[in-house]
Amino acid sequence: MNVIDFENTYSKLGPQFFEEVLFPKFENPELLQFNQELAMDLGIDTKGSSEKELALIFSGQKILEGSMPLAMAYAGHQFAHFVPQLGDGRAALLGETKGFDIQLKGAGQTYFSRRGDGRSALGPVIREYLVSEAMHQLRVPTTRALAAVLTNEKVQRHYPEPGGIFTRVAESHLRVGTFQFFAAREDTESLKTLVKYACTRHYPEASTPLEFLLAVAKKQAELVAHWMGLGFIHGVMNTDNSSIGGITIDYGPCAFMDEFDFQKTFSSIDQNGRYAYINQGPMTQWNVLRLSECLIPLIDEDSEKAIKIIQESLEFLPSYIKDKITEKMSAKLGLKAPNEKLCNQFLTYLQENKLDFTLSFRNLPLLKDENQDFYPKTKLLEEFLPTWLEQGSIEGLELINPLYIPRNHQVQKVIEDVYKGDHQSFKDFLEVLKNPFEKNEKLHHFHLPPLEDEKVTETFCGT
Ligand code: AMP
Ligand code: MG
Repeated sequence: MNVIDFENTYSKLGPQFFEEVLFPKFENPELLQFNQELAMDLGIDTKGSSEKELALIFSGQKILEGSMPLAMAYAGHQFAHFVPQLGDGRAALLGETKGFDIQLKGAGQTYFSRRGDGRSALGPVIREYLVSEAMHQLRVPTTRALAAVLTNEKVQRHYPEPGGIFTRVAESHLRVGTFQFFAAREDTESLKTLVKYACTRHYPEASTPLEFLLAVAKKQAELVAHWMGLGFIHGVMNTDNSSIGGITIDYGPCAFMDEFDFQKTFSSIDQNGRYAYINQGPMTQWNVLRLSECLIPLIDEDSEKAIKIIQESLEFLPSYIKDKITEKMSAKLGLKAPNEKLCNQFLTYLQENKLDFTLSFRNLPLLKDENQDFYPKTKLLEEFLPTWLEQGSIEGLELINPLYIPRNHQVQKVIEDVYKGDHQSFKDFLEVLKNPFEKNEKLHHFHLPPLEDEKVTETFCGT
């Protein structure tokens, strides 16, 4: 029996949607981590496969029957600047199974690589493995991690680093940028094909391009509310990283905040704070508008009429996004009904006192105790407390507010350990993140925010 039963529905859309990929040779790929539970869910049969064989499969060295490796075409607005052709420059779709894409990242150049080497350093592979699996356990729609492979070859970054290959699983890799690719070419037929395909994979209930657009808009609003509720900063919300299925995709310079700050950014390339924490809602809206522009010719032959329909249909979106975020924050505070003012009061208090975002929500029950010493007793707290005590309940909050998140400094430390050949902390961290709401007696140190000298203030794209 084949290890994976592949389908190739995407490749059947037509040659304009992709370029085939030939993987380069890796002499000695080695399996670092494999997600057996996810494999089982996907019906992937590894019973007869050695670790070596899995390393060969998940580094593009052994192509399974039925797999047709390809790089997907897409465009995108990068920091608001439109690039008509990006595409998978270091990723290759092996095929789909049970409706999920199986994609290798870092396995070599493709047609779309431009000047890039198509490879990935091991650091970003470990980072994406940890963070995407954590997001899944935190109940956030996300791509998943199936495998991490060591290439045992160096890649040249700021300095030579060990190479890695990541296997990403996604409900699809369709992006706003996929639509922009065809819109930029005025290829209306391909856009129609793409809408139909996206609906089949994500929104079977949508029967028109407009219904599809609204479904994406709502899904993305829900997604950004999840991010806001975790202090998660995606870092590169470019339209090429904006998923049509409303899942978190492309864990590059992303990070979870420790000390709360509305304006927080981590990414070294986000100099103007375009994708700062607080801007993520408005940026979601911006990305949906870019998708809507692509759909104009499908909504009405008369483009003015189409634009008017779109504008009216999307009028609800800014307040919808805001409401989703307020609902999420209110739930985290244990409020019986959403209360934007109270949420803002609490967050402002966190910022003013440089409190840790995650622990400040997790420790909320302490606020019932007058002698607690986690929350500094300031004027803002005095203003917040009476209403919170009246409107909030701490019951069940430990199932909403996690204890463990993939904190930046710990992710960094794990990467350093693996670079030194010690894989234990990677495995430990994965174990803790499997159960982020429950205290892990043995590995509790992972809940700790960074000390001053442990802080990681800047993150980088995977390249
Ligand atoms: P990202 O910032 O990771 O979303 O990537 C943006 C674009 O750069 C995409 O088209 C990627 O395929 C491409 N890219 C990123 N890293 C590499 C690399 N190492 N080699 C070739 N292309 C890359
Ligand atoms: Mg990307």
